[in-house]
Amino acid sequence: MTSTSPLPAAFIGHGSPLNALERNRFTDAWRSFGASVGRPRAVLAISAHWYVPLTAVTAMAEPRTIHDFGGFPDELFAVQYPAPGSPDLAAEVVSLLDPAPVVADDHEWGLDHGTWSVLVHVFPDADVPVVQLSIDASQGIEHHLAIGRALAPLRHSGVLVLGSGNVVHNLGRIDWAGEDQGYDWALRFDAAAREIMTTRPGDLAELVDHPDFRAAAPTPEHLWPLAYIAGVADAAGVVAEPFVEGPTMGSLTMTSYVVPA
Ligand code: ZN
Repeated sequence: MTSTSPLPAAFIGHGSPLNALERNRFTDAWRSFGASVGRPRAVLAISAHWYVPLTAVTAMAEPRTIHDFGGFPDELFAVQYPAPGSPDLAAEVVSLLDPAPVVADDHEWGLDHGTWSVLVHVFPDADVPVVQLSIDASQGIEHHLAIGRALAPLRHSGVLVLGSGNVVHNLGRIDWAGEDQGYDWALRFDAAAREIMTTRPGDLAELVDHPDFRAAAPTPEHLWPLAYIAGVADAAGVVAEPFVEGPTMGSLTMTSYVVPA
């Protein structure tokens, strides 16, 4: 199925897995975004939580819901997101990327909480097929930008490319009492990302040289999904816009971006 008008793409700052169960200004924004998209043919999700030494794609017809966390209430472990997979989209992704991603089976992956904690709000009916693409942990930001650029044509065939991570994500410095608060370095780094995403997303690699990079992304897996969406925007010749933003717990930011259709 091919459509002439492109779909948007988006990066969502997912924060705590508990957002899957909550309603707050962030999850409300995710819901509004989903409602604005309608019902795409499929979602291609790039989650911070599938961070492995290669690029892989899920191709199973019925991906399982993975509860890849510990120390959370039983209610969160009970969440199921039974969206179908899309072997067709997986095959399309394999043909778009060079080198082609490895095809993962149900034993290897499914839908992790970076994907489902967001999609329970974006598409609450779980009726849009979902494919996940892993993040190659052996590669740097330019590689992730390049994959994003290569994925951009999917917007024209009814696919919503969705990155899920956090621009600022430093679990070692979380302030549990700091709801809606952010350290100065967290706010500076989030603002630097915003400046690039809203004016010249193809230059996102500059963030790696930012003085606050090491504090904001002591491990980069939550930042890299943003690079895929910046790559989509760059290839499409458009800029991204934040649709909800702000810090939480001091050392995380929830800022989320849409690449307009
Ligand atoms: Zn996460």
